[in-house]
Amino acid sequence: EILQPTAMLDETEKQEEGLRPGRLADYIGQKDLKAVLEIAIEAAKGRGETMDHLLLYGPPGLGKTTMSLILATEMGSSCKITSAPALERPRDIVGILMSLKPGDIIFIDEIHRLSRMTEELLYPAMEDFRLDITIGKGQTAKTRSLPLPPFTLVGATTRVGSLSSPLRDRFGLIQRLRFYELDELILIVQRTAELLQAPVTPDGAEEIARRSRGTPRIANRLLKRVRDFAQVKKLGEITQPVAVEALEVFGVDPMGLDWADRLMLGVMIEQFNGGPVGLEAIAAATGEDSQTIEDVYEPYLLQIGYLHRTPRGRVATPNARKHLGYE
Ligand code: ADP
Repeated sequence: EILQPTAMLDETEKQEEGLRPGRLADYIGQKDLKAVLEIAIEAAKGRGETMDHLLLYGPPGLGKTTMSLILATEMGSSCKITSAPALERPRDIVGILMSLKPGDIIFIDEIHRLSRMTEELLYPAMEDFRLDITIGKGQTAKTRSLPLPPFTLVGATTRVGSLSSPLRDRFGLIQRLRFYELDELILIVQRTAELLQAPVTPDGAEEIARRSRGTPRIANRLLKRVRDFAQVKKLGEITQPVAVEALEVFGVDPMGLDWADRLMLGVMIEQFNGGPVGLEAIAAATGEDSQTIEDVYEPYLLQIGYLHRTPRGRVATPNARKHLGYE
């Protein structure tokens, strides 16, 4: 059940629904996470209880929402999906909590962005399955406590450090999602290709996987762009040369960097002599939002060693210079 009005789900999100693996066994990669959750699920089921609240953190597109939906399936319950920006007013979360059935999972994306009042309503709800609401105003205001059915909150965030500690402390399980390995991404591309009925050769799948920045969402997105290209140019199967040609057209280079990454690194190298340069200066020079730079662009550039973070700012590494053709 998606609580956001459908108008708020953009096209990519709607298309993503059909591509999500449905069971834990079909969820590729993230071995550590899966091992922890297998035990948590089995233990909770054995006791006839709900699973502990779970906090998932890591860059966007690594499978946090997907995992939450899988947990609901494995627990035989249903999952309500929402996000912190949709819970601006206290009554938004009250509405969701009041509609819970025993064992339900609530998934809250971007949980580090919850408003204070919403967050405070969640504390007793998470801890004691209790909703404390204030009725009336000023002198005559009264607090009422309503019991809630047991539920599991799954929170997702790109920045675990931005969570308040009272909220973080109420999660029994805190797990990080990692970038995917090449062999895992190849499997994901092949699985999606089958679902989309887009024939792809093993080296074609590998080429797409290599350019996916360790991220399943990007792998699926690139596959769709390559499929379109192959279809329009009547190239038939997605082979390696087809993937290379298509991804060049879409501006995705052999390391998976797109124009935004190259712009950012280029600005750092040309205008700031490679750094160190502060995040805000990069944001101003590229016209990108600093939070997007931090959450979306930087994690992968750090991972592949194109960027370093130092106390005095970001530095573009020699590898980044070489890749972009500066010597
Ligand atoms: P997040 O919530 O972390 O931003 P999602 O759960 O929405 O990421 O995943 C993005 C897309 O990637 C989904 O469409 C899903 O099909 C795919 N995906 C994510 N993780 C996996 C995985 N482990 N195996 C297969 N596909 C995955």
